[in-house]
Amino acid sequence: MSENLLTDTAFNVNETLERIGLSAKAAGREASDIRLMAVTKTVHPDKINEAIEAGCDLLGENRVQELLEKYESYDKRAEIHFIGRLQTNKVKYIIDKVSMIESVDSLKLAEEIEKRCAKIGKTMDILLEVNIAEEESKGGFYADEIVGVSEKIKDFSHLRLRGLMTIGRFGAEIEETRQYFEKMRHLLVDIKSKNIDNIYINILSMGMSADYELAVSEGATIVRIGRGLFGARK
Ligand SMILES: *Cc1c(COP(=O)(O)O)cnc(C)c1O
Repeated sequence: MSENLLTDTAFNVNETLERIGLSAKAAGREASDIRLMAVTKTVHPDKINEAIEAGCDLLGENRVQELLEKYESYDKRAEIHFIGRLQTNKVKYIIDKVSMIESVDSLKLAEEIEKRCAKIGKTMDILLEVNIAEEESKGGFYADEIVGVSEKIKDFSHLRLRGLMTIGRFGAEIEETRQYFEKMRHLLVDIKSKNIDNIYINILSMGMSADYELAVSEGATIVRIGRGLFGARK
């Protein structure tokens, strides 16, 4: 049969996985150590489900309202991580729908997640978001706060710190971005060495459509891709 039955989304998923594999190999890493996340903002659930059908088993959600509207339509084979700014009063709406919150950017938010998880008897995996380029406009902890915060998180019995997340500076040159990713890798080593219960600290979520191959060479274990899978956003 000569007809090509792949949808655009399925094609993009395959190609992205292939490029992740090549970058991993070039860096002496295993492709299986890197997870592809499909970032769903503004994308119709049908397209999201095409990505899941093509083998992507992880979704990234930015907005609480959008997650709630689309949640029922999603193919439930995929896990969902929350990756956007999260107000404390919205935590309760998503707590039972996501398996990880990657965008923990304050202790106040960590406390609220702890409180809500305690209520339903759940342990939530979290990442600390790092404002690695120290941009005024961006949320997240500064790099020099991360070790202290990770030590405080230990007191929260319903949170499990798994690692770090960052969003590179938009418009940065490749060498600048590479240095941010490298700093993130070192920071992960720092928090691992400071936490006795550190076996779970092994996730570095970094790299988006424009720079995920670089992120893989610098140690990313989750790459978060939107436009590269679904095309430009309106
Ligand atoms: C939108 C978004 C992405 C994906 O960006 P693309 O450039 O579309 O790949 C990744 N991470 C976060 C936190 C985002 O908001």
